[in-house]
Amino acid sequence: MTRPILLRGGRLIDPSQRLDDRLDLLVVGGRVAGIGRELQPPEGAVVVEVSGLVVAPGLVDLHVHLREPGDEHKETIARAAVAGGFTSICAMPNTRPPIDDPAAVGFVRAEGQRAGFAHVYPVGAVSVGLLGEEMTEIGELVAAGAVAVTDDGRPVWDSSLARRVLEYTQAFEIPYFSHAEDLRLSANGVMNHGAVSTALGLRGIPNAAEDVAVARDCILAELTGGQLHIQHVSTRGAVDIIRAAKARGARVSAEATPHHLALTDEAVRGYRTEAKMNPPLRSAADVSAVRDALVEGVIDCIATDHAPHHYEDKEREFDDAPFGVVGLETALGVCIRELVLSGRLDLADLIQRLSCRPASIARLAAGTLAEGAVADVAVFDPDERWVCNPDEFSGLSRNTPFAGQELVGRVAMTLVGGRPVYDRMGSKRVAASVSR
Ligand SMILES: [Zn+2]
Repeated sequence: MTRPILLRGGRLIDPSQRLDDRLDLLVVGGRVAGIGRELQPPEGAVVVEVSGLVVAPGLVDLHVHLREPGDEHKETIARAAVAGGFTSICAMPNTRPPIDDPAAVGFVRAEGQRAGFAHVYPVGAVSVGLLGEEMTEIGELVAAGAVAVTDDGRPVWDSSLARRVLEYTQAFEIPYFSHAEDLRLSANGVMNHGAVSTALGLRGIPNAAEDVAVARDCILAELTGGQLHIQHVSTRGAVDIIRAAKARGARVSAEATPHHLALTDEAVRGYRTEAKMNPPLRSAADVSAVRDALVEGVIDCIATDHAPHHYEDKEREFDDAPFGVVGLETALGVCIRELVLSGRLDLADLIQRLSCRPASIARLAAGTLAEGAVADVAVFDPDERWVCNPDEFSGLSRNTPFAGQELVGRVAMTLVGGRPVYDRMGSKRVAASVSR
């Protein structure tokens, strides 16, 4: 059993309880045992001074790719998660082999538990082999621990399959996560279609490839009453469609990534493969619409779409390089810089979108510091400025478009189930180790 921990004197922000105040947090037996002023540490407790730091529910990422494309160990990714303040991550099923049967779901869960960093929640495949044809045994996947289904990496191109998934998932009260893309419209494009793609002579992916697919899924969510979650929204058109579907009462939620909130397709200039992802970085008008939608609540939450790749893979020609960037270790610093410093969101609103809201979408026991809750906690300095140096990442992959940029806000300590699994403060803030 881990020792009790008293986090003393921090700014405790927990939107699930509408708390934002200078309060101590006491963790005993892996759970939140109390919140209050000047709490007394129990016998054997470690007291950590966290004045000047924010104490928040651990961050929740609905969109993480484990061991993609082949061999980055899950443990390293879970380590990267907690270095970024994430205590719960949802693992996408497009691994090799894919997570399309109960044994694979159980394997991902067990590996996550064994690694002992962030909680790893498997997301099962919609279709066998991710081929978009035969539906998986969704009930069995859920029984084995899947918290949602998706064919992420690829769309569910068959509309009748998408309809059936939105019908079936209701029996198990799980959402369908949609990678919304019309592959015929994206037509093997490698970046956003626009002035930059023309200048670079690269094949463009039009906004319509996303808009058309988002519209179809929203229509099917309304038809079936199923719970739809749109992944990585990147276009202003998709935002408008989601807003309208929500207004009509459809059970639709949506996520945006930090990179789509922060960067435009200008980042691709110089054929920078670390800015190659799918959906691609879009225009300034799209970034502005996605930000507005996040502030407004039309886009519910932030998810990283963390996708590790080997250095050599990203060193290829732009056309041949794989899609995807890492994001777990930069998400908080990018989001505070882009959204909080600009005055668009306050810290509580940001934590809502990085923790409480994603937890509720996938019905995870996370996103709260209520008494009795599992003590998943992120402690961070909201003002610390630091330069993103991928060589210092806890994860193995370096493919980030934020390298060399100044980010604002940095994780100091992460607790998972009351255990310090990441600690950049070392012993310097440990005020006392209480023993009697
Ligand atoms: Zn995707």
